[in-house]
Amino acid sequence: MIMLTNVHKAYPGGVAALDDVSLTVGAGEMLAVVGPSGSGKSTMLHLLGALDRPSAGTVRIGGHDVATLSDRSLSTLRARTIGFVFQQFHLAAGVSALDNVADGLLYTGVRRRERRSRAARALEQVGLGHRAHHRPHELSGGERQRVAIARAVVGDPALLLADEPTGNLDSASGSAVMSLLHDLHRAGTTMVVITHDRDIAAALPRRIELRDGRMVTG
Ligand code: ADP
Repeated sequence: MIMLTNVHKAYPGGVAALDDVSLTVGAGEMLAVVGPSGSGKSTMLHLLGALDRPSAGTVRIGGHDVATLSDRSLSTLRARTIGFVFQQFHLAAGVSALDNVADGLLYTGVRRRERRSRAARALEQVGLGHRAHHRPHELSGGERQRVAIARAVVGDPALLLADEPTGNLDSASGSAVMSLLHDLHRAGTTMVVITHDRDIAAALPRRIELRDGRMVTG
């Protein structure tokens, strides 16, 4: 599903955010990425999600070498293959849960009516069918994150990338979100989860650890 080979990533200014990282993630795997702040976790997630390109080395996603794809092909790859979940939810304010989720299909060529009916099903899947017409400020943090997960999976992506998905949640809501991610994994989605939470990391089948841009375990 994903193959990083001798990947380096330097930002302007010369910081080596990732230094010679190689990693293979098979289809259907679920793994945690752990490490202190500044160790390169978000940089790695951006590369895994084809949001950025490496400075050196190769990144393959679903058989494609991202270096050989145009920006347009990368956008298509992301829209069809990858769902993202972030700590801050990133829902559009003033827009219903249903339309927030439907927007997850915006770049896939699916028509509006079909986008909304698939969004309704995705909300049912995360247990929020009854909140479809609520706007984000009318939802709890845990509910907002479940809406964000519904938006990430409404296009049925093979790969779900989550950056501190429970970072803004109390422990009960965090557990509900993690159990939802485990359900999606059992249903076949490949999943990479960045987390600071040792218990969450320990509950995942595989962990990799970054330190100063290098992989120390995994
Ligand atoms: P983490 O997610 O583990 O906190 P990051 O991947 O965000 O780590 O950052 C790794 C290193 O790269 C840090 O030293 C950080 O300051 C630097 N960095 C991250 N993003 C940028 C950027 N856009 N420009 C310059 N430096 C960056």
